[in-house]
Amino acid sequence: MSTIKAYGAQDKDADLKQIDIERREVKDKDVKIQITYCGVCHSDIHTVRNDWGGGKYPVVPGHEIVGKVMEVGSKVSSFKEGDLVGVGCMVDSCRECDPCKKDLEQFCESGMVGTYNGKDKHLGGHTFGGYAETIVVEEHFVLSVPENLDAKAVAPLLCAGITTYSPLRHWNVKEGDKVGVIGLGGLGHMGIKLAHAMGANVVMITTSPDKAEDAKRLGADEVLISKNKEEMKKHRNSFDLLLNTVPVGHDINPYLALLKIDSTMVMVGAIEPLEPMHGGSLISGRKRVAGSLIGGIKETQEMLDFCGKHNVVSDVEMIDIQNINTAYERVVNSDVKYRFVIDMESLRTA
Ligand code: NAP
Ligand code: ZN
Ligand code: ZN
Repeated sequence: MSTIKAYGAQDKDADLKQIDIERREVKDKDVKIQITYCGVCHSDIHTVRNDWGGGKYPVVPGHEIVGKVMEVGSKVSSFKEGDLVGVGCMVDSCRECDPCKKDLEQFCESGMVGTYNGKDKHLGGHTFGGYAETIVVEEHFVLSVPENLDAKAVAPLLCAGITTYSPLRHWNVKEGDKVGVIGLGGLGHMGIKLAHAMGANVVMITTSPDKAEDAKRLGADEVLISKNKEEMKKHRNSFDLLLNTVPVGHDINPYLALLKIDSTMVMVGAIEPLEPMHGGSLISGRKRVAGSLIGGIKETQEMLDFCGKHNVVSDVEMIDIQNINTAYERVVNSDVKYRFVIDMESLRTA
């Protein structure tokens, strides 16, 4: 084991502070990574603040990790020292169940092991995430980062990127489809960029009129202010797919009215009870509400390669780890343009 520096919270009301954690020694199939950048996902905040219950402390968040390979185990074949790699939301799964065999490790029947607050089968206790100097991860869960992309702007692809890419692919978004992305934050801005790169006609659906110009720069063809009832009426029954990234429970009925017959709204944001949905919102138009959780490892690599080919990266605001608590407040206030990424050098030199 080695002791390293990390940033974590001791309970749900505490600020994040520097702490020491242990990492396991490199085993046969392991890759040890020096973390250079880590994105700040809204899920990090939900977890620290125990919004979803079942809190485990100390929590060291971070599942949008980019770094350099420092060391590999004797049975590792895909990576070598010096490679630029990524780690997303999972670091393990059973690899034997039906979903695992279908490259859907996120739905592993034994439960996938989260990059943080998952069950650590090596050291006991729970896993610690990417707000740390290094991480040791089994080869299967390590991704290869395209060298032509800006490494710090790649970090958010490991969660925000795959979480939006996977449903766009699963629901077969194609050239000319009208796709609405609801909520312009970390996930939303990747949703716009990826749907645009797939050739869709993208409409940004936002509560923040002041984000309209940015939405267009990011690739939206149109902007719809969800609080404006007249504008919402004009777009009724016109969308092929809606991607809902709103991070809290809310009224989804006004959004369902926007869907075409037989079309789907995919929920990726609110992992908590929603306000009551009116049956008529679905019945009239044979509409569907679905959900989606990140993506499997194979699809995550496919997403990174797609981004390499189409030059898609996140719009990032770089921070030092010492400013993480202020960044959290800004994310909660929808004031993020459009993903905070921590320069982990600030932890190494602290
Ligand atoms: P974020 O950066 O905070 O963005 C969320 C955006 O939603 C905000 O910028 C805001 O955009 C809009 N919004 C916020 N509160 C709202 C409200 N009450 N009503 C309507 N719109 C509201 O968050 P994120 O990092 O993108 O994450 C979004 C959610 O996805 C989080 O809950 C996170 O835990 C979850 N998540 C899920 C998965 C998955 O696999 N399913 C993966 C990662 C994250 P506007 O200003 O444009 O309205
Ligand atoms: Zn995330
Ligand atoms: Zn499994």
